[in-house]
Amino acid sequence: MIAPRLTRVRDLSQVWYERLLSYHYDAALVKVTELLAETQTDENGCMVTVTAEPRKVRFMSGQDRAYRFVYCIQNQLATNRHQVVRHLCHNRRCMNPRHLTIGDRRDNLNDDRERRANGVDWHTL
Ligand SMILES: [Zn+2]
Repeated sequence: MIAPRLTRVRDLSQVWYERLLSYHYDAALVKVTELLAETQTDENGCMVTVTAEPRKVRFMSGQDRAYRFVYCIQNQLATNRHQVVRHLCHNRRCMNPRHLTIGDRRDNLNDDRERRANGVDWHTL
């Protein structure tokens, strides 16, 4: 069951992205560049945040996970509550835009299942 409060937070997140894309796009792109500059690239090409957990970003009175911010701004996409930004590399601290894709919760579960069965296929990245 989905908690109503969580649903509302995600809707506000979508409104926030719409506002950024419409009115603050250049500044948001600068923020993306800054976030990526602070990552460390590992042997898999992952651009990994130096924070222990997936990094958060605060920007223009809103906040989100940094990898989601990077994806949404670069793709000019205001994600809604049904959409999740997925890691093709399965590294949740990675912010490499080429390792990120959009999907729904079912995709995310399938990713986990596939990874347990086959491991990560780096050739698709
Ligand atoms: Zn990665």
